[in-house]
Amino acid sequence: MDCTMVTSRVAAFLDGALASSESERFVLHIEACSPCSQIVVEIEAQRFVPLTVEQREDICGREKFWNDMDSVLCTHMEQMVIAKTACLGPWHRRQVGMPMPMVMAYAAAMLMAVAWGVQQRDRALVAEVASEHLGQDLESERRLAAQPAAEQSRESTYKVVNYTPQRGTF
Ligand SMILES: [Zn+2]
Repeated sequence: MDCTMVTSRVAAFLDGALASSESERFVLHIEACSPCSQIVVEIEAQRFVPLTVEQREDICGREKFWNDMDSVLCTHMEQMVIAKTACLGPWHRRQVGMPMPMVMAYAAAMLMAVAWGVQQRDRALVAEVASEHLGQDLESERRLAAQPAAEQSRESTYKVVNYTPQRGTF
């Protein structure tokens, strides 16, 4: 089963309407193909709640909706196009009120943005811990380096001097 086949059967798969052999091949494909498995996950999460005509016009008619979408999408559009074009079957026209590729691209872009943010935060935490650790290392090394010097200077300050005045010197 290829990507086109799989994407045309997502809805049937989720409805449990595929024959068992077909469903098996479907699962085999999505286990190996991350764009397709992503689509299945997204569709399953949304479960096709169809919008009424009024809702659709209310959402899509607002200029802010499209401006937001444009600004998010232009960053990720290239990957989106590559990842999604192979997998756009007729299924999205079946029960959905909104232009599904746009919604999915939008959702995927948001997910990517969130994941990126989390990654950056984790990286920052790791870096912070690492620099703290490095700071401690430097501090202990500095102390180690300072110790012999301190001992040396103490020794030279309190150096025992054997001075025996000789008779007749004074
Ligand atoms: Zn695929």
